[in-house]
Amino acid sequence: MTVLDLEKARAKKAAALPYTDEVAAKTDHLYKRVETLIPPPEWRLHAPYIAAINDLKKKKNAVILAHNYMTPEIYFGVGDFAGDSLQLAKMAAETDAGVIVQAGVHFMAETSKILCPDKTVLIPDMDAGCSLASSITGADVRLMKEKYPGAPVVTYVNTSADVKAETDICCTSSNAVEIVEWAAAEWKSDTVILIPDQYLARNVAAMTDVKIVTWAGACEVHERFTADDIKELREGNPGVIVLAHPECPPDVLAEADFAGSTSGMSNFVKKHQPDNVVLITECSMSDNVALENPKVNFVRPCNLCPYMKKITLPKILKSLQSMQHEILIDPAISERARGAIERMIALPLTRQSMYTHAKAPQVMAVEARAM
Ligand code: SF4
Repeated sequence: MTVLDLEKARAKKAAALPYTDEVAAKTDHLYKRVETLIPPPEWRLHAPYIAAINDLKKKKNAVILAHNYMTPEIYFGVGDFAGDSLQLAKMAAETDAGVIVQAGVHFMAETSKILCPDKTVLIPDMDAGCSLASSITGADVRLMKEKYPGAPVVTYVNTSADVKAETDICCTSSNAVEIVEWAAAEWKSDTVILIPDQYLARNVAAMTDVKIVTWAGACEVHERFTADDIKELREGNPGVIVLAHPECPPDVLAEADFAGSTSGMSNFVKKHQPDNVVLITECSMSDNVALENPKVNFVRPCNLCPYMKKITLPKILKSLQSMQHEILIDPAISERARGAIERMIALPLTRQSMYTHAKAPQVMAVEARAM
């Protein structure tokens, strides 16, 4: 550590908020929810921020939308609504609060702003991006539409407003199979463009006869898991139940006992209460689901999302204090993107997408930007 690093660390410690009796009175009930995971000395660092954020939320008529990949002190300490990206999008549309703070990544904050154009939507760190969302632009989608005329465009919600604006209907991992089949029937097309996650597209292709064209995007957290990781896990933990996210490569899903969205995995654990389980996804998800299911033992190999981890309690507090960083979207783009999201929300889908690899996951083409 350099002298400069030491100075910075000292300044940071000096700037930390104190843990007082008043803070304890305001946060003790919240600590009960996480005490099996967070030791008291660590909680005393978080609690002053949690108390300050919760006070400020009331003063500013604000709510915090916490994604499943947020750390437990955020998820349980300050989150008003928690869930996966589809659940958060619906909650954003329904809340009466005038200010939304997105404890998640940039595309999620954009989705909230698209659905709530009259509300102030804040993201605590503008660098909270996403490898999937940054893999593709609206111009890329326009070129794909020219290449595959007549094929509807189904876009994963993990994309920018610009990309959603070029889209016929959005999807999430919890409804992708059903949305692809709905779009093929509605557009009377045997081919659907499903972008930008090539692995989600391959996993959908294993569940449908619709021909899928996709994009060479990937989630850098989920694509790192391998089928060998799962085999080693099973050898080291006999009887463990393996749940995987459909952003993982198809050979990983083929080794899993169940594959589904973050809410699908969470519901599976709640319903089946397995003795031993492993979630093949982002690290904080296991922490949050474990706290809600104390009788289940969680094996925890996981990968951190560097973008989600940019959101911290001090940054959320600063965001509310200074009303930064506000999400602003060109109204014309926002209007078109809203149509694609609302079409998805309005569909009366009765079940969650299942990914069982009933057949080989072939996609028709994987497009990429010309170099
Ligand atoms: S986990 Fe993957 S898809 Fe989610 S924000 Fe991180 S990089 Fe993007």
